[in-house]
Amino acid sequence: MDFGFKISPSSAVNLDNVNVEKFEQLHSVEPDVYKCMACGSCSSTCPANRFSGMSMRKVILALQRGKEKEAISMMRNCMLCGKCSMVCPRGINTRHLILSISRIYKEDGK
Ligand code: SF4
Ligand code: SF4
Repeated sequence: MDFGFKISPSSAVNLDNVNVEKFEQLHSVEPDVYKCMACGSCSSTCPANRFSGMSMRKVILALQRGKEKEAISMMRNCMLCGKCSMVCPRGINTRHLILSISRIYKEDGK
């Protein structure tokens, strides 16, 4: 019988080992990406969030942590409606950011 607590594998990310080359490439065309303060306003207004878990906040964090596949998989549910851009308190054009991420991270077919 499966009972009691289980020890989950660590989800810690050693940022020293993360290849940030593509994120820096993204930063060069979208300097605002570093303005994100992970407030989650974009996610809470996103029509795709409730049904698919799409979250711009999580996409940015995943890319910073080198979890590109996770980010790209989430972004497949984006409808490019632009609602997230309208509510971002840091004024980030998230819709444009999504398009840049798609271009840079999908260039090698990932
Ligand atoms: S609303 Fe803007 S600042 Fe807040 S998590 Fe989304 S992108 Fe980042
Ligand atoms: S553009 Fe994409 S991420 Fe932004 S609110 Fe619309 S579906 Fe969500």
